[in-house]
Amino acid sequence: MHVVVCVKQTPDSAAKMSVDNGKVTWGDSGLVVNPWDEYAIEEAIRLKEKHGGKATAISMGPESAKEALKTCLAMGCDEAVLISDPALKGSDALATSYVLAKAIEKLGDVGMVLFGKQAIDGDTGLVPVAVARRLNWSPLTYTIKIAELDPGTKIIKAERLLEQGKQIVTATLPAVVGTVKDINEPRYPSFMGIRKAAKAVINTWSAADLGLDASQIGAAGSPTHWPRVFPLPARAGSVELIDGTPEEIAAKLADKLLADKVI
Ligand SMILES: Cc1cc2nc3c(=O)[nH]c(=O)nc-3n(C[C@H](O)[C@H](O)[C@H](O)COP(=O)(O)OP(=O)(O)OC[C@H]3O[C@@H](n4cnc5c(N)ncnc54)[C@H](O)[C@@H]3O)c2cc1C
Repeated sequence: MHVVVCVKQTPDSAAKMSVDNGKVTWGDSGLVVNPWDEYAIEEAIRLKEKHGGKATAISMGPESAKEALKTCLAMGCDEAVLISDPALKGSDALATSYVLAKAIEKLGDVGMVLFGKQAIDGDTGLVPVAVARRLNWSPLTYTIKIAELDPGTKIIKAERLLEQGKQIVTATLPAVVGTVKDINEPRYPSFMGIRKAAKAVINTWSAADLGLDASQIGAAGSPTHWPRVFPLPARAGSVELIDGTPEEIAAKLADKLLADKVI
């Protein structure tokens, strides 16, 4: 089975976000694989290892996103494709889903597309369901376990993690699977993998390569607008550390909570 994993390059989770001239910026913080995507990458590799076939990582982004794709190769993905074109700048979730769906169609023989839960910068969580809708495939979001998968009958049984509990769903492949962090423990790239990825050639597809409609990409294809972007006010409040033995700390804490009418 050919499994595709969609990966976004994001600022490091430790990066400090600020707003500069009405634009969100992370300064010159390092760029990483979107942390939620690591679980999707791991699942794609495990599926390939169990059922055969190959795992391909794809990303829409600037040239720098090749580094994120190299991490995917170092972890164990077989191939990687970057979709990059100046015309894609300014794309929102709708336009991004159009581009990714077109790339998946171009790959041709895909049985499953995996995503992380959300991107830690954009944070909309919209892209997986929008891609599923465009492809007309079942969206199995918040998947915590792929309980059964038969590439022969093309039936997938997945457990979805909901606030109220778990939901077990079945669908027919091809399908879009959104993952949550408890689905697996992502592996570290191996030394050999890192060496192999460093030498790997990453295919780059342009808007023309995908035959994209100019009215559906970039700012022209993005109905979302950010009329005002502003940072939240700094949090008021202070921190006080209580010291002493555990009994003394508990007594002092109880006194303070009583004095402040918290308890
Ligand atoms: C008006 C506007 C202009 C914007 N301009 C830009 C811009 O110029 N450059 C820019 O980088 N962002 C831009 N953004 C942000 C960008 O639209 C979002 O990051 C993008 O739509 C994806 O949504 P998300 O980040 O919320 O992903 P989510 O929906 O939260 O992500 C869910 C899953 O989809 C995957 N995914 C998301 N995006 C990609 C991708 N590009 N490739 C592969 N997988 C992906 C994630 O990795 C994750 O696994 C803009 C947004 C708006 C509204």
